[in-house]
Amino acid sequence: VRVGVLGGGQLGRMLALAGVPLGIEVRCLERTPDAPAAAVAPLTVGDPGDPEVLAAFAAGVDVLTYEIEGLPEPALAQVAASTPLRPGLPSLHAASDRWLEKQLFAGLGIPAARTLPVSDRTGLAAAVRELGPCLVKTRRGGYDGRGQVAVRGEADLPAAVELLPAPGGLVAEELLAFDAEVSVLGARGLDGAVATWPLPGNVHRDGILRTSRPPAPVPARVAAQATTYLTQLLTALDHVGVLALELFVVGGRLLANEMAPRVHNSGHWTIEGAETSQFEQHLRAVTGLPLGCPAARGSVAMVNLIGTAPDAAAVLAVPGAHLHLYGKEPRPGRKLGHVTVTAADEATLSARLAALATVLP
Ligand code: AMP
Repeated sequence: VRVGVLGGGQLGRMLALAGVPLGIEVRCLERTPDAPAAAVAPLTVGDPGDPEVLAAFAAGVDVLTYEIEGLPEPALAQVAASTPLRPGLPSLHAASDRWLEKQLFAGLGIPAARTLPVSDRTGLAAAVRELGPCLVKTRRGGYDGRGQVAVRGEADLPAAVELLPAPGGLVAEELLAFDAEVSVLGARGLDGAVATWPLPGNVHRDGILRTSRPPAPVPARVAAQATTYLTQLLTALDHVGVLALELFVVGGRLLANEMAPRVHNSGHWTIEGAETSQFEQHLRAVTGLPLGCPAARGSVAMVNLIGTAPDAAAVLAVPGAHLHLYGKEPRPGRKLGHVTVTAADEATLSARLAALATVLP
């Protein structure tokens, strides 16, 4: 089976690696020839946003999937008529725009921070009056904290105004003082079966994910609620593949932040830490294979490598450390790789994480 992945970053690279033992050939379509996936998968160099490029790429694979968002939906709809696109367009569409996403959540009764769409200065001022301190975000295309401005008072407004020309406009979200961030990831198979992983607790800095560690610091009831929200989304979207939902925990309540219709950074721990990794699971789902068991194996945590590459030998000297480098040039704020640390119990894991912290840049 040949799976065509739109995008060839680290997610494409890890999908390709997961495909090898299953006899699934992963190919990627990506603009830059030296993208992370190029080292492990045949890479077609081209713009996934170009309908002709897309059609030619789709003709060479059995099923199409994606590791990036913001893809051209009309061109994809055409291609999907002959090559199945999994997850399908409803998932991609909803996740492409923060306002649509919030409306989807609302329609399913999934709570979220109070959010208003903003398209001009007047709307921005009105939203700030209505919401108080808020986070202004571009509706489309933002990631890793880019395209976001916190507005706590008048002085912050000019920076938010600068975001106004963004295609698709903006949203203003109530700025939450959350107790924790968690995510829930799961997959839905072609037959409608759903498998969800234990939730990790996530720590972000400057809008970028730093660590993910299951189980999330929430009562079982709250974790079950998050899993129910994810399952509702999977079903409502007729989603096939992995779906990630990021949530805030505020006073024991969950508020949905955003979703990603693809494998997700907060699921990287599943490579060594779960019976079935998110990458294998995604490939199983989109090729119509049965889903694998999502249970965790022992204690596990994932630490992102941001901006500066670590000394590999020092990382690997930490017991239980598994190093994943993406083959990217170091640059401030860039995700260069991650380390997953495994252990038989939580106390040993914490000690190993402390040891790892001393050798990271
Ligand atoms: P996002 O790109 O929406 O996932 O935002 C990146 C990070 O910014 C989140 O993981 C949070 O740490 C923070 N953040 C996003 N939205 C809010 C919010 N409404 N209130 C407080 N912090 C937020």
